[in-house]
Amino acid sequence: MENIVELSHIKKEYLIDNTGTLAVDDVSFCVPGGSFLGIMGASGSGKSTLLNLISTIDKPTSGQITIDGNDITNISENDLAKFRREHLGFIFQEYNLLDTLTLYENIALALTIKEMRKEEINDVVMSLAGRLEIENLLDKFPYQVSGGQRQRCACARALAINPQLILADEPTGALDSHSAKNLMETLSGLNQELQVTILMVTHDALSASYCNEILFMKDGKIVDSLKREKQEKRAFFLEILDRMARMAGDDDYVS
Ligand code: ADP
Ligand code: MG
Repeated sequence: MENIVELSHIKKEYLIDNTGTLAVDDVSFCVPGGSFLGIMGASGSGKSTLLNLISTIDKPTSGQITIDGNDITNISENDLAKFRREHLGFIFQEYNLLDTLTLYENIALALTIKEMRKEEINDVVMSLAGRLEIENLLDKFPYQVSGGQRQRCACARALAINPQLILADEPTGALDSHSAKNLMETLSGLNQELQVTILMVTHDALSASYCNEILFMKDGKIVDSLKREKQEKRAFFLEILDRMARMAGDDDYVS
């Protein structure tokens, strides 16, 4: 499978009071098309920084990132905004949706910007809402539905533009365990049935066990990786815990 994303020697340094912190330290990896790749690590290990670099929200200090063949480290701010709108779907822990818009309008927004016809937009929204089981909630506002329903709406919104890549930062972070399981099953289903490529960062082993490959991050570096071959999800989950324990060493492994 061709790579959708390629990172080559990516570094991101933050300067605070003239002291540099390497939040991302020489990271290289690829995201093959159709994969569901997870990045795990404790709080502060650099996961969000890395995701923001791939999201084109932030620029690396050095190194190169290509998405679908486009070198995103070398395009203008204007073109980046357009690139983001047309190629990427986002799911964050919170603040996914615009509070003043209904769920329908939230999902439709990216398509309205694309100047798609109203009937066409309606077809896309209704088909995604059906798939994500929120078709009865479309006239509600985000504050009127549960966290799990908001995240399923965020999935629909992310999918609406038919993106090359979905980027998710701790998507289950604010959910109860039942809603988290439901969301992960949804993401996994979208990946398997629609071959949507997903890159998700999380500190949660249970969420990560839905991925088909996991990179482990510590102090800004990728220090380990794990592929799900034929093992059951439960066995994969236990392997993840084992790797996390090994990676944590004597450090507290909390988020
Ligand atoms: P994670 O998402 O794994 O919890 P982050 O990527 O948020 O980790 O943070 C990695 C490191 O970079 C931390 O030490 C954090 O304090 C630092 N950092 C993150 N964002 C900034 C910023 N905007 N300015 C300065 N330091 C930052
Ligand atoms: Mg984070």
